[in-house]
Amino acid sequence: MRGGGAGGGRARGGGPARPARARPPPPGAGFPVAAKWAATGARPGTVVVANGDEGDPGSYADRLLMEEDPDRVLEGLALACFACGARRGVVLVRSEYPAALTRMRRALACAVADGHLADAVGTGDARPAVEIVEGAGSYVAGEETALIARLEGARGCARPRPPYPTDRGLWGTPTVVNNVETLASVPWIVQNGGAHYARYGTSKESGTKLVCLSERFARPGAFEVRLGTPVRRIVDELGGGLRSGGPVVLQIGGPLGGFLTDSDLDVPLTSEALTARGAALGHAGMIAFDTQTDPAELMRHIWEFAALESCGACSPCRVGTRRGLEIAAARTPPDPSYESLARLMGEGSMCAFGRRVPAAVRSLARAYGRELTGWDR
Ligand code: SF4
Repeated sequence: MRGGGAGGGRARGGGPARPARARPPPPGAGFPVAAKWAATGARPGTVVVANGDEGDPGSYADRLLMEEDPDRVLEGLALACFACGARRGVVLVRSEYPAALTRMRRALACAVADGHLADAVGTGDARPAVEIVEGAGSYVAGEETALIARLEGARGCARPRPPYPTDRGLWGTPTVVNNVETLASVPWIVQNGGAHYARYGTSKESGTKLVCLSERFARPGAFEVRLGTPVRRIVDELGGGLRSGGPVVLQIGGPLGGFLTDSDLDVPLTSEALTARGAALGHAGMIAFDTQTDPAELMRHIWEFAALESCGACSPCRVGTRRGLEIAAARTPPDPSYESLARLMGEGSMCAFGRRVPAAVRSLARAYGRELTGWDR
């Protein structure tokens, strides 16, 4: 099972870890959950945060889980607290999800009334106390260090790592941030065993994933699939292909994920295979584009998204996204200096958001070939 901050997926199976001191996890999502839990070392003051700040356009799996099965999310969070020796849990709900916020609060009140959770932190109660917090309303605020900043009352901007949150996170205490989808799978794993869970998926990335198909599919919606399922099967059998019937270009893994063309669709749905093709698993949102799509407009849109959502904390991303938007808005191929800009953003940005933009742009350029000449650097 894997999970993380913004864009974290889950894959490797296994029950909750026995708390043990370990090296803090490296930056980025996709880090094995058990190792992340172990990294806190069950130190006093440990906090577990359920990240429901689902910011990927095209992803709504966390919203469905929080709206339709909030008890399962709370149970997964409580089990994670138990595994990490944490007495405090937080559910951060995206501000654009008012129904999820209401249902999570209602479920929490019932769980406290039924004696499953403590009603306050610091009472000496062995049961964890959980609070529900509304998100900060930006994409980057779902990144785990930005999310922690928001919980501390600061702007939802990413912070440099190290220190990693499992070492020094919320208010300086060890903090685990797991996605809502990751935590929602924990009760089943505890009940049925890690070995059973590991039978799903592939040997390296086991388990299932909720994929969300966008409105251009004949059957849009959220589907739970085994990891390793060929993307073509998801597109054709679950999604029913495109409404327009034409060939597909698929954006997968969020706004800064990557693009697959029809000839790529036999790739299995795993983090490793998608990354090897310049895409990403992320929240497994799949946005389809058809022959009606203008590639230059799509390129401009990516840069606009990046420029609007950049938190501005570091200049490679703040300046680079604005410059990228200017070039894309001109709808002409970028001059050779774009290569330096892309390298600077990819290597010098402080968090994965800025580092990921040039890769997403390259992936889009590869998908559309000559129509986006110059962006593939
Ligand atoms: S890379 Fe972008 S989003 Fe991340 S800290 Fe820098 S400015 Fe903020």
